[in-house]
Amino acid sequence: MSQKNTFACPVYKKCGGCQLLNMEYQAQLNFKRGQVAKLLKSYGKIEEMIGMEQPAHYRHKVHAVFGRDKKGNIVSGIYKEGTHQIVSVEECLLENEKADAIIQTIRKLLKSFKIKTYDEDTGYGLLRHVLVRVGYQTGQIMVVLVLGSPIMPSKNNFVKALRREHPEITTVVVNVNEKRTSMVLGDKEQVIYGPGYIEDELCGMTFKISPKSFYQVNPGMAQKLYEKAMKYAGISGRETVLDAYCGTGTIGMVAAAKSKKVIGVELNKDAVKDAITGAKKNKLSNIRFYQADAGEFMEKMAESKEKVDVVFMDPPRSGSSEKFLTSLVKLKPEKVIYISCNPETLARDLDFLCKKGYQMKKGAAVDMFPFTDEIEVVVQLRWSCKSVKK
Ligand code: SAH
Repeated sequence: MSQKNTFACPVYKKCGGCQLLNMEYQAQLNFKRGQVAKLLKSYGKIEEMIGMEQPAHYRHKVHAVFGRDKKGNIVSGIYKEGTHQIVSVEECLLENEKADAIIQTIRKLLKSFKIKTYDEDTGYGLLRHVLVRVGYQTGQIMVVLVLGSPIMPSKNNFVKALRREHPEITTVVVNVNEKRTSMVLGDKEQVIYGPGYIEDELCGMTFKISPKSFYQVNPGMAQKLYEKAMKYAGISGRETVLDAYCGTGTIGMVAAAKSKKVIGVELNKDAVKDAITGAKKNKLSNIRFYQADAGEFMEKMAESKEKVDVVFMDPPRSGSSEKFLTSLVKLKPEKVIYISCNPETLARDLDFLCKKGYQMKKGAAVDMFPFTDEIEVVVQLRWSCKSVKK
């Protein structure tokens, strides 16, 4: 790895997305490792920090907001941190380069197709956002055009023109978001080209990804994270496994190949549908997915005294809920593998679990988001009634 930081970005100061760009990559890794170690030191040790070999253009999900600048020119890019001001981005150090090129082509095509960008203040105009997802292994590409109203004029010709420049696009979806909200995607969807989803492969499994399903933005590092999580789980083939907050079922499916039975639980309906399709595609007959709040689901499992040996939990940034953690302690799985994208809520949840009988045995940090201050952590907890504090 080069010692000098050779990475630069023209919109670094304006955008605010890369908080650590002024640090050499190795220094970023040391900084992050230090932060995690400090936060978790009263619970256990962080054994390693897994970094990227080529830490650029890792985002395989790229989102661009469309609008106009003060002179009336069409711009696309990102919101300046904490504002609704658009910073025009032509290329970004973090984003997949093909995705950026597609967004630039869309920007160019808008003029010839006389498509107006949406104006947040007045509610007039059509194109609000563009979302591009690129498959890491498959190279399949999904483009989602988010519109402020349902009718897109000459949509078929638009797709043709777009695919003429980027024949690698495998599907195009129109998503309608008529609400004045900061949510990117609305409820209505219309597939205007291809199957309406893409597939990707990680750890030997195939996953279906729809516009709204959660799928890791840095799949290469997600694979490293899952490998570490599997190592920590040490599954032998006889275990019943729970994959909580499972998204499209990625972790559960990787575990299913090695366990007796896997149960996945996830709140997002579309992600659950994708998980079920994925399990069929991977010919896994020992995995079931449920759409539910993970806390409520766990409470029911604890009430009916189900036996679970290993729990993988991968909650959103806000961490897990007290309901979930209380039921987890009642179920007492031998091992809990906690994957977290926010070490602060991880520390809070570890505090709860370690007071109720779990011990953190080891942990690793994975640099899923180079140049930003985001840190991903995986820790292994084991049931040890000796550590129960009254
Ligand atoms: N394990 C998956 C997804 C992790 S992201 C992966 O590695 O790809 C966190 C997931 O938790 C998201 O899919 C989100 O929809 C889901 N989620 C958020 N709150 C939840 C809740 N209360 N109950 C169940 N799932 C929830």
